[in-house]
Amino acid sequence: MAGEPQADCLFCKIVAGEVPATIVRETATTVAFRDINPQAPTHVLIIPKVHHPDAAALAAAEPQVVADILCEARKVAAEDGVEETGYRVVFNTGSGAGQTVFHAHLHVLGGRGLQWPPG
Ligand code: 5GP
Ligand code: ZN
Repeated sequence: MAGEPQADCLFCKIVAGEVPATIVRETATTVAFRDINPQAPTHVLIIPKVHHPDAAALAAAEPQVVADILCEARKVAAEDGVEETGYRVVFNTGSGAGQTVFHAHLHVLGGRGLQWPPG
């Protein structure tokens, strides 16, 4: 069923506590943890507790949770001290855009200059 945990999903396992992660924030609907391969001084992933393969699927099924994720992004940025200097939020969607984990997740990147457009 849509939203149910998937046995083969890495991020569902992080939600369940079956795979360790450096969790920085947790709410009723979201978990935020540091990326294992950080691309900036602040590189945090914010995921819904429910499983959907990408942001568009999550938005279609549970739009409030997308808003929850974006509210959490601001809090992560504030707690890491990058809210004033600026930060980038990214939902890679599809393998051609670099998505490798098919459980929706928002990247929060900050703490260094970020080029635009991204590569
Ligand atoms: P994507 O490429 O799908 O947009 O982002 C997936 C992200 O998950 C990558 O930045 C990758 O470094 C991160 N990642 C992959 N496996 C793990 C893991 O086991 N733990 C953590 N904390 N991050 C992971
Ligand atoms: Zn999942």
